[in-house]
Amino acid sequence: MHKPLKKIVIVGGGSAGWLTAGIIAAEHSTDAVSGIEVTLVESADVPTIGVGEGTWPTMRSTLKKMGISETDFLLECDASFKQGTKFINWQTNTNEYYYHPFTLPRGFNETNLAPFWQPFRDKISFADAVCMQSHLGEHDYAPKQISTAEYDFSANYGYHLDAGKFAFFLQKHGVKNLGIKHIVDHVGQVNAAENGDIASITTQQHGDISGDLFIDCTGTSSILLAKHYSVPFVGKKHILFNDSALAVHVPHQTPDSPISSFTCSTAQTAGWVWDIALPSRRGVGYTYSSAHLSDEKAEQTLRNYITPIIGKSAAQVSSIRKIGFNPGHREKFWHKNCVAVGLAAGFIEPLEATALALIELSAKMISEQLPATRQTMDIVAKQFNIKFLHRWDNIIEFLKLHYVLSKRVDSDYWRDNRDETHFPEGLQEQLILWKTQSPYHYDGDEAGKMFPPASFQYILYGMGFITNSARKKRIDLSKNADRLFNENVKHSRQLLAALPTNRELINKIKQYGLPKI
Ligand SMILES: Cc1cc2nc3c(=O)[nH]c(=O)nc-3n(C[C@H](O)[C@H](O)[C@H](O)COP(=O)(O)OP(=O)(O)OC[C@H]3O[C@@H](n4cnc5c(N)ncnc54)[C@H](O)[C@@H]3O)c2cc1C
Repeated sequence: MHKPLKKIVIVGGGSAGWLTAGIIAAEHSTDAVSGIEVTLVESADVPTIGVGEGTWPTMRSTLKKMGISETDFLLECDASFKQGTKFINWQTNTNEYYYHPFTLPRGFNETNLAPFWQPFRDKISFADAVCMQSHLGEHDYAPKQISTAEYDFSANYGYHLDAGKFAFFLQKHGVKNLGIKHIVDHVGQVNAAENGDIASITTQQHGDISGDLFIDCTGTSSILLAKHYSVPFVGKKHILFNDSALAVHVPHQTPDSPISSFTCSTAQTAGWVWDIALPSRRGVGYTYSSAHLSDEKAEQTLRNYITPIIGKSAAQVSSIRKIGFNPGHREKFWHKNCVAVGLAAGFIEPLEATALALIELSAKMISEQLPATRQTMDIVAKQFNIKFLHRWDNIIEFLKLHYVLSKRVDSDYWRDNRDETHFPEGLQEQLILWKTQSPYHYDGDEAGKMFPPASFQYILYGMGFITNSARKKRIDLSKNADRLFNENVKHSRQLLAALPTNRELINKIKQYGLPKI
């Protein structure tokens, strides 16, 4: 119980495994005598999921902390910049759209602009009025210039990347620069210690590998937390219906086609199509509810979507991959000396790209709160479970919000989504509250949440929700809001005049690289 925790064994070499290993190894000494040992075991027989191409801005600080050059990352992972999501046809299916940018509304921490924007809602969209980033999105502009240092920005950003290349890139960096031990072998057995902890795992060629802490990053197989410990699964399909995805890679229309720095999410009859632009190709996929749509119809929708990009005959023969998933998460994530990260912990659906962000946050907490000995592990585990259950709830509420505000009537999928019996607990109440006051810093627990109130504002007002506050604001507050609106106009103009397009910036990075920090 009092022996120092030294050996961390991570099972699984997808994005979850390599991010977790990298985050831990970048923070702690892996010196053979006094440091910890981080070993990652991955099977050559079980492929990684191969999707997950949109990140949050958190990825910038994650990569930076791991000592990664942003230029190397961008070039080796075929990555480009992501500034948020553009939602098309979610509200009325009439080619309307709105933006959820990564930048907070102007002056958000001092003033809530939402009530001051409401009287002008028919004249200007919420995102356009309060933030410069939707303006950049309309022109496919980059969030920075070639002279901006690595990881710095003019507009907040994350990335669009090639998932396969990303895991390989992290592996190379982790093994070469962070001292991570890499074993390619299949884990066939989990061996228990007397106290119920995992003592070791048995691999086919490397025998038993023992450890003090085991991190389950084995994807949907979840061989440690689910299979060995039988930690129950909490299904969420009754709230968020999507359980299937079809994915395809397509070339750009022409080699110099614009690269969008917003994930385009286009609502369909029974789900939505994601469209992620990388420098060399686009990753497109339809995520849908199998209870509302057949695979054949979904496939036809996806082929129709890519037809304008690559032409009819190419669209008909493109190779499409089906991925099934069961939306939900484990009842707890840390049990005994085992913690699950990534798909092994759960997955809801790709909307708003929460999975990689949750991996980063999980790995960060494991690393920062790494128990000194086994004695304190259960205390850390308890805190971890409380925090992450809260985060999953926040994600579920936020994702469901995208669906319940839709006015679409073209299928049962949209009607069922508005049925209150499928709402997560609390959402109905919040919607009543938001009719008279907009989301803001109201409940004092923002740090534990995944999405800030600003994100709720972008979705609510993008989807045409109306907040009618009966109270009039003081005149000096209105003047301050006018100042912020005017500053946003000025700032947007300045950035539009100064920034290159994404394609121009990526081409320059290939030539010169970004200045090092
Ligand atoms: C359709 C879809 C779209 C998505 N889009 C996004 C997105 O845009 N943004 C985002 O953040 N997330 C997205 N995700 C989620 C994202 O793909 C995953 O969270 C991420 O890739 C992490 O996966 P993973 O590493 O947990 O699992 P995997 O990639 O499945 O890796 C599992 C690893 O475990 C190993 N393994 C399994 N069994 C054994 C064994 N017995 N012995 C040894 N090793 C074993 C495998 O070899 C593999 O290395 C999406 C998911 C889906 C399904």
